[in-house]
Amino acid sequence: MSIALKQVFNKDKTFRPKRKFEPGTQRFELHKRAQASLNSGVDLKAAVQLPSGEDQNDWVAVHVVDFFNRINLIYGTICEFCTERTCPVMSGGPKYEYRWQDDLKYKKPTALPAPQYMNLLMDWIEVQINNEDIFPTCVGVPFPKNFLQICKKILCRLFRVFVHVYIHHFDRVIVMGAEAHVNTCYKHFYYFVTEMNLIDRKELEPLRPETPEDPITFCNVSYFNVDSLVTAISS
Ligand SMILES: [Zn+2]
Repeated sequence: MSIALKQVFNKDKTFRPKRKFEPGTQRFELHKRAQASLNSGVDLKAAVQLPSGEDQNDWVAVHVVDFFNRINLIYGTICEFCTERTCPVMSGGPKYEYRWQDDLKYKKPTALPAPQYMNLLMDWIEVQINNEDIFPTCVGVPFPKNFLQICKKILCRLFRVFVHVYIHHFDRVIVMGAEAHVNTCYKHFYYFVTEMNLIDRKELEPLRPETPEDPITFCNVSYFNVDSLVTAISS
């Protein structure tokens, strides 16, 4: 039943187009460096540490864009199974319900079906990372003063995608044979946000690890449960 990752993470299934760094810019070099340290198969915990002499904002910018691309791809692979019928409310199990709020249509926190919430979330992040005033691409243009605040909000929202995928759609991820990829991406994300202190502990609660050494041994999720795997295969 398992399909090669290359097919699973087919670019046609990408939920949103990838945001790229311009070759030749300092951020492109930093992105390449961050990727190289990951590809060498290493300790993710060490790979997320700010390299000496690098600017914290640059390091965060590179990771935010990279996580957006990766998480977007992960949700893209399961989005056909995340519908208004399966997920009438954006949640992370019975205990956590996420309500959408923005400065446009939803001025008050509003309960929405998960696919609609995900669309708004990805659109909103896309607008932020393509905004030159927030993520400047020209050399010498500084980041805004509230840059880290905006990144915290982006990462907090991206974390909710993991929560929803792990709690409601991990059976599908397993059927696709993509669990190792999703777990690695999540570990990388978790180490980064905790190392840089970018998401409140309280927000991380739905995927609280049983041991800090292994962030994917969740207290609240039992995705290794055979029943959900059987349901996934037979549905
Ligand atoms: Zn869903």
